[in-house]
Amino acid sequence: MRRGRRSGLYTMIAVHSTARGPSLGGCRMWGYGDSRAAMRDALRLSRAMTFKSAVAGLPLGGGKGVIMLPAGAPALAPGRRRDALLDFGDGVAQLDGRYVTAEDVGTSDGDMTVIAERTEHVAGLALERGGSGDPSPWTALGVETAIRVAAERIWGSADLAGRSVAVVGLGHVGSELARGLAAGGATLVVGDVAPAKRALAEELGATWAEPAEALHADVDIVAPCALGGVLDHDAIPALRCRAVAGAANNQLASEELAEDLRARGILWVPDFVANAGGIINIAVELEPGGYAPERADERVLAIGDTVRTVLDMAEANDTTTLAAAIELARKRLG
Ligand code: NAD
Repeated sequence: MRRGRRSGLYTMIAVHSTARGPSLGGCRMWGYGDSRAAMRDALRLSRAMTFKSAVAGLPLGGGKGVIMLPAGAPALAPGRRRDALLDFGDGVAQLDGRYVTAEDVGTSDGDMTVIAERTEHVAGLALERGGSGDPSPWTALGVETAIRVAAERIWGSADLAGRSVAVVGLGHVGSELARGLAAGGATLVVGDVAPAKRALAEELGATWAEPAEALHADVDIVAPCALGGVLDHDAIPALRCRAVAGAANNQLASEELAEDLRARGILWVPDFVANAGGIINIAVELEPGGYAPERADERVLAIGDTVRTVLDMAEANDTTTLAAAIELARKRLG
């Protein structure tokens, strides 16, 4: 953790594991009550990134960067924002390739261009700059793949025609996912806290619902694509779906709730398995040939095999899908 020379803001980088190669993880620009809370978040998220990369079979460790904004403060003025990104870039440069940053909540591919003024260890640059661009469509593709494997397991077919899916959160990932599912013939219920997202529901012929209603809609599959912690002691007993697979990180309010989902006969695809498409796409930049969308496509679609392996392990060991995914990550970490 360091206080930025230019911006005066705290920036921090947590590198959880480098044994498998550089630690790749986004730079989050977010408001926190104090620097300890920010550090805790960076540590927790960097550990999660290690599992996400390991389970996806990537030769990478997990890392996370944080640019700490004061909680509740207005957005930074452009000059100070640029200074904060340059300060963060100096921190990345000091780690000399052990940590590679990309975008995360609160940062964009344009911000990565600013960080790249201070360090070469940046991924997720815009396509025009030879990077892999916005990871969200790839995350959406991975989630759709996970949804299809869940359908295959429950109903014997990955075909989504006639299946009903609720997408909760229509942001970068949720909106792409909803488009993909609609194109695949699924009937959709969609919800978001932002009323402006209703236009997408109309465009896709989807039923619009308040987020809490969408989560508890009478559908085959629910895809949480907004915030973490949505699956808690109140929400799980009220679910009416057969499967949950979505983009949101940390969907379970606490890990033991994976057992509650299992007891209710609901197939949950662990978030860090289903939502790895974005990081898989970014990791293609680090391959010897550099970034190529065709290779990204192939690698992201392989999430389907990972989901099948996790579901097989959970069945064979009579455990939750969470326990199986953690075991698979540990095995792949060696
Ligand atoms: P985003 O900020 O673009 O979209 C989030 C959407 O959720 C917004 O439309 C927002 O209005 C809506 N929302 C906020 N609170 C809500 C609530 N309580 N109920 C319903 N909707 C709500 O974010 P994103 O990039 O689409 O990411 C969505 C989730 O997926 C996040 O949890 C993110 O951490 C995770 N994720 C994203 C990526 C990626 O590639 N973008 C990769 C992995 C994981």
